[in-house]
Amino acid sequence: MIALTGDIGGTRIKLAVVRDGQIIARQIEPALADQRWPDRLPALAATWRALCHEANIELATVAGLGVGFPSLVDAARGRILDEWGKFPGCAGFDFGAWARDTLGLPLALDNDARAALIGEWRQGAGRGSNDVVMVTLGTGIGVGVVMQGRVLRGAHGQAGTLGGHLTVRYGGRPCICGNVGCAEAEASTAVLRELAALRPEFATSALARETELDYASVFQLAEAGDACALALRDHSLGVWSATIVNLIHAYDPERVIVGGGIMRSSAHILPALQHYVNTHAHTAWGRVQLVAGELGDDAALLGGAWLVNEKNFPNASA
Ligand SMILES: [Zn+2]
Repeated sequence: MIALTGDIGGTRIKLAVVRDGQIIARQIEPALADQRWPDRLPALAATWRALCHEANIELATVAGLGVGFPSLVDAARGRILDEWGKFPGCAGFDFGAWARDTLGLPLALDNDARAALIGEWRQGAGRGSNDVVMVTLGTGIGVGVVMQGRVLRGAHGQAGTLGGHLTVRYGGRPCICGNVGCAEAEASTAVLRELAALRPEFATSALARETELDYASVFQLAEAGDACALALRDHSLGVWSATIVNLIHAYDPERVIVGGGIMRSSAHILPALQHYVNTHAHTAWGRVQLVAGELGDDAALLGGAWLVNEKNFPNASA
């Protein structure tokens, strides 16, 4: 089966051609997420066409377009439900009609973190398990859930995907979602500079001199003994650990996959999360295994092909 897939992020957009579970052509572009979504799409269509040309694939042989989008998504109807300050005009836009009219392809749309989960579950770190939660630590915190061998979507498509918006601190920081004290508002790349600036040690920290403050520098400088970086590291690991315990208590997984850009520092992260989970998660049956994602940037691109396959479009059996 051949699918065109896309992983739409707030910083980068990744596009690919996937054949039988292998990416045979790919392109990464800046997201330009301040552009209106309908205006952003012609460039994406041109890239998908160019990738088909590069891979020597005719569009007529493609089963469908599988896309992960960083928002709440109604997967059954193929609609983006919420804008989250990115790609204005995306909510309610008839993306399915656009895919059909522009590329002649049916669309399988889902939340980006859920697409990554599906990729990892089918082909990566979740293989062999029917009960998997994946936490993607990126600009925000994305979550996807497989329970008893089924991708969890819920009545309105949002089950599991709001894992980054579980309350980890009652009365805490306001979040873009309307809640307060969400994991994403307490520790994510999106709020890292703000969190750092609130620390009294910030003014004298090497972090104050970073033009683009990210967790790679936080973990690096923490190792070197920078007080602000150490405080931010420990705070963030605490927030992510508490989030994972909440997810374990909610969804009863046997494995939790941790992925996303922040996991480039996985050696500093996974042991701390596993230790906290071993100590605090209430799992009378045994211990939940925490593992790093195996597919990296490819997870949601491969997951997109599984979304197409799941929809059982006409060419999906080819
Ligand atoms: Zn929130």
